[in-house]
Amino acid sequence: QEQKAQDQKINSFLQNVDHKILVMSGKGGVGKSTVATNLAVFLNNQGYKVGLLDVDVHGPSIAGLLGLTGLRLNTLGSQIQPYHYTDNLKVMSIQGLLDQPDDPLIWRGPVKIGIIRQFLADVNWGPLDFLIIDSPPGTGDEPLTVAQTVTDCQAVIVTTPQEIALADVRKSIQFCQKVNMPILGIIENMSGFVCPSCGDMHAIFKSGGGEKTAAKYQLPFLGQLPIDPNVVTAGDAGQSIDSLSSHTKEKMQHIVEQLLQ
Ligand code: ADP
Repeated sequence: QEQKAQDQKINSFLQNVDHKILVMSGKGGVGKSTVATNLAVFLNNQGYKVGLLDVDVHGPSIAGLLGLTGLRLNTLGSQIQPYHYTDNLKVMSIQGLLDQPDDPLIWRGPVKIGIIRQFLADVNWGPLDFLIIDSPPGTGDEPLTVAQTVTDCQAVIVTTPQEIALADVRKSIQFCQKVNMPILGIIENMSGFVCPSCGDMHAIFKSGGGEKTAAKYQLPFLGQLPIDPNVVTAGDAGQSIDSLSSHTKEKMQHIVEQLLQ
């Protein structure tokens, strides 16, 4: 009975969201959360209403990347008020519900599933053009819950160029195929480094592997993002895109245009 009522709430929210995008990666540390955050901010800058949902309940990082940590989330009646990064960019993360931002979470599958469903049912998102969902790396409970609950969700897969990362991408691709989630495309992050002193491009972790994998699986390749030291400083300072290098901003803009096609 309760589950049915929750299903209804989830469905009535999702009906008012035009595009649902799950950002996945085969493993951690490839920049998935950074890419998800930048996608949300760039889309919002173009005038879209965007929701950014962090379903990584063990290692949430979205709120930190946007400088929102320390803020507690409020409830209004039975609804949780998401962070308003801007009027049209709402953000939800477990971080806002923890007493201490560093609280470790030791939760089993069913609890995580319950929390993710609650993020969809009980958050005051309002109508959205895009819901960007940042999942933890891999193919565990969280992306599975999203696949089962947000049935028209599409995936974006983030990888780095090395062979070892690409082996994990194949698992993400297979996961999407198994749960019937269409893949919008692959993004290659940390792809080359433009040296600030000599201006040359150095392929530190090689380059082009993501594009090759996309071609192999006949998936769209959405673009590359370089290694940009500003990404780290911006992320650590919670400033998102403000201080990205112009080269990175251009590349990100290109990815967003590919996505909007
Ligand atoms: P994931 O979500 O895949 O675990 P994060 O987005 O948390 O990865 O990024 C991991 C670290 O790498 C962060 O410190 C982030 O600032 C850094 N990072 C991500 N993308 C880039 C990039 N293009 N250039 C430089 N550093 C990056």
